[in-house]
Amino acid sequence: MVQFRNTRRAFIRSATQKISLLALGSQAIPALAEELEPVEELLPPEGILLEQPLAKEQIIAAKKLGIALVGLGGYAGGQLAPALQETEHCYLAGIVTGTPQKAADWKTKYNIPDKNIYNYENFDQIIDNKDIDIVYVVLPNAMHCEYVIRAAKAGKHVICEKPMAITVEECDRMIAACKDAGKMLSIGYRLHFEPYNQEMMRLGTKKIFGEIKTIEAHDGMGDTNGWRLDKKLAGGGPLMDVGIYCVQGCRYTTGLEPIAVTAVEGPKTKPEKFKDVEESLDWTLEFPGGIKAHCKTSYTKNMNLLQANAEKGWFKLSPAYPYRGQQGETSEGKMNFPSVNQQARQMDDFALAILEGRATPVPGEMGRQDVKILQAIYKAMETKKRVEIV
Ligand code: NAD
Repeated sequence: MVQFRNTRRAFIRSATQKISLLALGSQAIPALAEELEPVEELLPPEGILLEQPLAKEQIIAAKKLGIALVGLGGYAGGQLAPALQETEHCYLAGIVTGTPQKAADWKTKYNIPDKNIYNYENFDQIIDNKDIDIVYVVLPNAMHCEYVIRAAKAGKHVICEKPMAITVEECDRMIAACKDAGKMLSIGYRLHFEPYNQEMMRLGTKKIFGEIKTIEAHDGMGDTNGWRLDKKLAGGGPLMDVGIYCVQGCRYTTGLEPIAVTAVEGPKTKPEKFKDVEESLDWTLEFPGGIKAHCKTSYTKNMNLLQANAEKGWFKLSPAYPYRGQQGETSEGKMNFPSVNQQARQMDDFALAILEGRATPVPGEMGRQDVKILQAIYKAMETKKRVEIV
């Protein structure tokens, strides 16, 4: 019989968890195995002896990983915190904010203990906090790099919001920091966990309607303000913020990587407001096999479409990218899938990936590839030339 000496205090808080540990057996879950030191049993254990070993799935189901949200703005407060009330494998354990009033409000609303509340200065002390397994960075784009690296150095797994960063070089440093720390990094690509978008992936990559010929991908918002208009913080305009969903949609619908791009900036109808970033942008991605994806983004026009036109028919979502309310149709009829909480599914999947020791389907490398493509689109826009994506 194998017993496990636990080197992780947080894991032995409850009798259920003690049972879980003893039940792990020699096939310990890889991600947890590093934290558990197996020893041959010499004496009967003082703890609970298990007569009916729990299945690996039951052990995983008993454990909820603690998430700390960094940056309590619109997305963290409006979507992620509510989603964390629905998750099965993770929970809202902590917060990082620069605003004392927000700390007080969230503490009350979500019952967060004082010891799990940080500000941007003392954030690195999170290294000593066993309640926090995952740090979720929900700050303006240009701040992602610093906080992902600090989280990795504090020994935490990390989720980073999209776009992953504002340069590929930053993405490389973020990936390296997580790798060096032996921690997982994923990007907040919620649509990978949404049934209508998953259907686009299936129809496209399995070639259900034959080879894709063209794609139309449009994502635009009627208005925006704040840091999103400041190039230093946002890295660009609507392309960085919502156009990235078009790039993602084209990639996951084809299962292919674009090889070149041409791009045209739209006219500035509000030059004062958009002095720093583009107001709108049209671009065409070329994929292997001659597939062309025509994409549009804007901060002054609402648009929301992902459509693939293939040899034997078409399939599309409109709207494609919102938090809920997707609608889908193919040349053969309407799609019909349940409405889900995308963010809850996304965070649960990352927690499970950590617990099961498997890869996340939305890793840092995927975020890096998108940033590389976004930069090529901007280069094509500025040079007015076709830019190869290598
Ligand atoms: P927001 O402006 O509502 O919140 C930003 C937060 O960062 C605020 O709490 C603000 O106080 C804090 N902050 C710290 N330093 C700051 C600084 N120097 N300037 C401005 N704010 C600062 O933004 P948001 O909509 O929550 O977006 C945050 C991140 O989440 C962005 O990267 C965005 O792209 C991403 N996002 C993703 C989705 C999605 O569907 N996955 C949706 C919305 C936003």
